[in-house]
Amino acid sequence: MAYDNIAVPDTGEKISFSKGKMQVPDNPILLFIEGDGIGYDIMTASKRIWDAAVDKAYGGARKISWMEVFAGEKAAGVYDGNYMPDETFDAFREFKVGIKGPLTTPVGGGFRSLNVTLRQVLDLYSCVRPVRWYKGVPSPLKQPQDVDVVIFRENTEDTYAGIEYESGTEENRKLAEFLRTELGATNFFPDAGLGIKPISPFGSKRLIRAAIQYAIDRGRSSVTLVHKGNIQKFTEGAFQKWGYELAREEFPEQTISWDEVAADHNGDVPNGKILIQDTIADIMFQKMLLRPREHDVIATTNLNGDYLSDALAAEVGGVGIAPGANIGDEIALFEATHGTAPKYTNLDMVNPGSLLFSGVMMLEHLDWFEAANLITKAYELTIDQRAVTYDFARQMENATKVPTSEFATRIIANMDAV
Ligand code: NAP
Repeated sequence: MAYDNIAVPDTGEKISFSKGKMQVPDNPILLFIEGDGIGYDIMTASKRIWDAAVDKAYGGARKISWMEVFAGEKAAGVYDGNYMPDETFDAFREFKVGIKGPLTTPVGGGFRSLNVTLRQVLDLYSCVRPVRWYKGVPSPLKQPQDVDVVIFRENTEDTYAGIEYESGTEENRKLAEFLRTELGATNFFPDAGLGIKPISPFGSKRLIRAAIQYAIDRGRSSVTLVHKGNIQKFTEGAFQKWGYELAREEFPEQTISWDEVAADHNGDVPNGKILIQDTIADIMFQKMLLRPREHDVIATTNLNGDYLSDALAAEVGGVGIAPGANIGDEIALFEATHGTAPKYTNLDMVNPGSLLFSGVMMLEHLDWFEAANLITKAYELTIDQRAVTYDFARQMENATKVPTSEFATRIIANMDAV
């Protein structure tokens, strides 16, 4: 398709799908949104690292053709004040896979979060956040190496659906009246703001399906359904119920529930089976601090997942290095999980880790594990050499503070040593 302000590269091929399976050419066109604030610094550094890793891992046989698409402040410059141009969505629909830096959400009326808009318009229903510790990274835990989980957070439902009625409005009054007179729900104060929390079997099951499939594909041992079903029975509780139901119906050979393990296998998970278990959301925070090894893949609702992702990221180095992705049936958008940190714009000093590892996830998504692993190993060596950006330098002893660009150069140089 023809674009007004997007230059499709001369070289490279589109990623496509055949019978539901992604087909990745050796020279795929991948999209990038630079991002606002620190976006330029971290995207420039990370692209150098991703390109070097692909080149070194495959001896030139594979190569990424980058295609820039726009959102946020850069888009507003290119598209005459439009922060979220339609062509960006079209490009994702056509080319399928891309990565983005952080975006400013302009403060003031009329603007929805650009990040939320991208997820909703492209129906990227799984927010995937791997949380693991890299040797040498400062952590508040005694044994951060025990944390190695992948969170699948539902991205489209729950309180994030934005169905809310403000106290004092006509809509609020009507809904309150309906609840009191038609449904007999009386235990809320007059003029309470009201919100609706939709959780559907369709939305829950497609997220849990993606989590279980990931566990199968990556050889993971368990999927934990995290919910608040003890209090919210027909939303959070239903999420848990539908999760077990889905595992039983669609993955009977590959999975086993905790009840079956207890009843039929003396509490030992049979070899080759993925354990499906569940935990109430509040206790999950305690478990992930005290016994993180008991969890592997986590599937949860939108709001629980929001809290849990940032809390777990803090256990292994914080949002400065936590990677993420938003994935739908075909389209995948990888992204830095922190914001634009505007005070550091163009100072060449912030940590590129979050975006860098989002790119590592993207390489894994393409099945380019050799390049992904090369980056991880070179990164660990660089941290081990105690050459780090300012945020880690202030938490580590005997560390050398280096600019973002030099940090990237050191990682690339270390690829030859690992
Ligand atoms: P932020 O940009 O994440 O920055 C908060 C603090 O986190 C920074 O001041 C810095 O801490 C630390 N930080 C963030 N990224 C870092 C990095 N790469 N390396 C090292 N330290 C890093 O959060 P914010 O200030 O609340 O939000 C700023 C803007 O970003 C807002 O417009 C918001 O809407 C937007 N935002 C976008 C996204 C997204 O695009 N996904 C997410 C969140 C927020 P120190 O000051 O301690 O050095």
